[in-house]
Amino acid sequence: MPELPEVEVVRRSLQSFINGLKIKKVTIFNRNLRYKIKRNFERIIEHQKIIFIKRRSKFLLLGLENNFTILIHLGMTGKIFISKENLKKILKTSFYFDNEINKKHNHFIIQFNNKVKLIYNDVRKFGFIKLISPNHRHLNNHLQNLGPEPLNSEFNYIYLNKKIRNIKKNTKSLLMDQKIVSGLGNIYVNEILNLSSVNPKKISKNLSPLETKKIIRNTKITLKKAISLGGSSIRDFKGVYGNNGNFQQNFMVYNRSDQMCKKPGCRGLIKKIYISNRSTFYCLKCQK
Ligand SMILES: [Zn+2]
Repeated sequence: MPELPEVEVVRRSLQSFINGLKIKKVTIFNRNLRYKIKRNFERIIEHQKIIFIKRRSKFLLLGLENNFTILIHLGMTGKIFISKENLKKILKTSFYFDNEINKKHNHFIIQFNNKVKLIYNDVRKFGFIKLISPNHRHLNNHLQNLGPEPLNSEFNYIYLNKKIRNIKKNTKSLLMDQKIVSGLGNIYVNEILNLSSVNPKKISKNLSPLETKKIIRNTKITLKKAISLGGSSIRDFKGVYGNNGNFQQNFMVYNRSDQMCKKPGCRGLIKKIYISNRSTFYCLKCQK
């Protein structure tokens, strides 16, 4: 499931491929994604120029000249492909690698001027595309209750320390809560807690100032590293699919149950448990 770094990688590649282009035609094969694509969708976005491409949490926001904003969420399996006729190739903008596009799962195509196409492919159809009308972005129900972006300076020690004082949740659930900090999901929270030597079950109000500071710092480090590893593979999207270095090969604990902790000098055993039905991996030695 794409988390913040994957969505940021997609945003950056969309920025280089479609920013400033004009939408020529929209073809929808399947309107029934997580939310039904409204009837007037094509009419509102056709002949509009893309004026910005932003990300908020795991949402992509494509600004149009008429001040509407296209909101895209990739859900579980959403992927965006760009095709450029002059290259006769499909460029993938997704973080994850796979070797083929199954056309059966292409749900819509946005065609731009100069023969660029954006193809949305989603096997499980949990993703969606919606329009936000002009000046309603701050009121949008997907965006309005989100906590700060973890890479922004508002996500800092003073903020988190204040938040955790009244919360009886365990630390893993705290970091997964989009109202506290937006965009973190299961994989990265597991990683952040290992790097911070914090037990995922620890009640967050019992976190020491040092632990809280470590969590902030490791959140930023982990996300930046994941973005840069995904980002570095963007350059290879032109033709090479395969196992370039990406963050999944760098996991400290995620999917590594019964293996040894990678932290220098630790050698503790990684255990898998479930917290709120989500698989949770932690080191029995350094995350006591
Ligand atoms: Zn360890």
